[in-house]
Amino acid sequence: MSISRRLLGLAFASADTLIEIDADGCVVMAIGAGPVSGIDPGTAWIGRPLVDLLGKASGVVVTEALNQLQPGVRSAQLDIVVTCDAKHVRRARLRTFCLPEIAPAVSCALTYDGAAFSLAVPQAPPMLDTDSLIDRVQLALDDGQNTENVSLAFVDVPGLSSGDDEQHQRAEARIEAALQSASIDGASAARLTPERFAVLCNPGGDAALLDDHVRQAGAAEGLELISTTTQAGIDAGLPPGLVMRVLRVALKACIEGEDTAGPDQIFSDHLKTTLQEAERFTALVKKRDFALHFQPIVDLVSGEVHHLEALARFGDEGPAGTVSMAEDLGLIDKFDLAVLERALKQMRRPGFTHLKVAVNISGVSLTNDLYVQTLLKLTQPHPEVRARLLVEVTETAAIGDLAAANRRLGKLREAGVLVCLDDFGVGAASFEYLQTLSVDVVKIDGSFIRDVVDNARTRTLLSHLVDLCRSLKVSTIAEMIETEEQANAVRALGIDLGQGYLFGRPSAEPAMPAPVTATPVGRRRGEVTGWG
Ligand code: C2E
Ligand code: MG
Ligand code: MG
Repeated sequence: MSISRRLLGLAFASADTLIEIDADGCVVMAIGAGPVSGIDPGTAWIGRPLVDLLGKASGVVVTEALNQLQPGVRSAQLDIVVTCDAKHVRRARLRTFCLPEIAPAVSCALTYDGAAFSLAVPQAPPMLDTDSLIDRVQLALDDGQNTENVSLAFVDVPGLSSGDDEQHQRAEARIEAALQSASIDGASAARLTPERFAVLCNPGGDAALLDDHVRQAGAAEGLELISTTTQAGIDAGLPPGLVMRVLRVALKACIEGEDTAGPDQIFSDHLKTTLQEAERFTALVKKRDFALHFQPIVDLVSGEVHHLEALARFGDEGPAGTVSMAEDLGLIDKFDLAVLERALKQMRRPGFTHLKVAVNISGVSLTNDLYVQTLLKLTQPHPEVRARLLVEVTETAAIGDLAAANRRLGKLREAGVLVCLDDFGVGAASFEYLQTLSVDVVKIDGSFIRDVVDNARTRTLLSHLVDLCRSLKVSTIAEMIETEEQANAVRALGIDLGQGYLFGRPSAEPAMPAPVTATPVGRRRGEVTGWG
């Protein structure tokens, strides 16, 4: 039979390689391309069993298909793996056809799919977490690149996390390796969520290329993975120090963001709004465009106002959202100083000159010397005011170096300023703070006070805490006391001072409450070291 007649049997094929096998499954004819250059099927494959040229699993599939092959009927397409050498394979599609005239010989058409790849899953630097990714951006910028020269590609791979079998794990490892090698320095890809990656790359980078990497990585493991890559520039005209922090906020939004918008959109939107918020906040601090309200803290035994806590107000807004945004953006230290300045001014006003005032500061303000130095400088002309000042440290988690923070607090205490740990008990590290930071007062978080009446465990816990604080000569404050029952409960536990709507809400002109009549429960009067 002529070659052309035989090829007729392969008319279905727009194949790369045409093969004919005999009744024993051995290759008797092969024309076309080999799986890699250097292998000529016309010589290398002749006489060899077809299944020996394939991966193990493919061999089984092909043998089964050949056994079932009927003369004159074309087989279904088989996805197989062709062996190139000991370490490399190439994906391919195989069709078989048994032409009655040449039976039992079988004609096969082989079409390669993608490039040859190494059997071993490539080793790559591990995926970065968000913080390390931001560090890389910083490095890239320090390296003389400006923000216009780097961009983030977001690669979404739906279905990637749908299985945790070996096939998926290998595909994941391949994708991670491919994305790392596509990143700016071969090690700047991060996995934001199970199905979303961020790759730091040059803005000119080709999104389609990244999608192709993902498709090939999936195909290498027999998975059809279709990714969507979108790119977002980092440049948003930000003041340099803010870029990294804004990036952090925007990336957080990409991780937590709903899927209504693409990650590039979420990212750009957040860059824009965060920039606006940062500018608005910076201007607000500069113009001192905020108010201070004051809330009384009372001696739980005598009912007398012990001191006032200064709480920031931005228009009608509560401060919590703005304060935590300012902490995220690294703008809180300037704000804490502006609050201090305002509070000191207020303390000199008629009616306030005998009052003691607590100001809140974020733990961030203790991570360098500026706050403490400025406080000492501002109070230099009237050092006596220091003895009327208390600093409440919130967001203690922001303190990295506790020992250094403690040295700074020590300077304040030496100058006569009292120090209070705010929101005690909310974080797991509260006791570590109490152990490391020398403080005068502990303010027990409102969440404990909320259930102090109904929850015996809370009372037991608080009573131990009060004992501990007493032995450390640390006074205690209970915050968010709203009812007489709560006030009685915390008083009975021996907590020294109380704060909450029961005694007075924060207000620009705080009304001094009448002393709360209470039956002393056989304990010493609320005593705050240094404040009498
Ligand atoms: P914080 O320092 O723990 O302040 C106590 C919060 O509890 C205040 O909320 C106060 O209004 C509220 N509160 C007081 N009594 C009660 C009560 O009986 N019931 C309830 N439900 N709430 C009560 P505010 O003013 O919204 O402040 C929230 C947080 O914002 C503060 O928590 C503090 O962490 C921060 N903050 C406020 N002002 C400043 C500031 O000037 N600087 C800094 N760094 N943070 C501030
Ligand atoms: Mg406070
Ligand atoms: Mg608090």
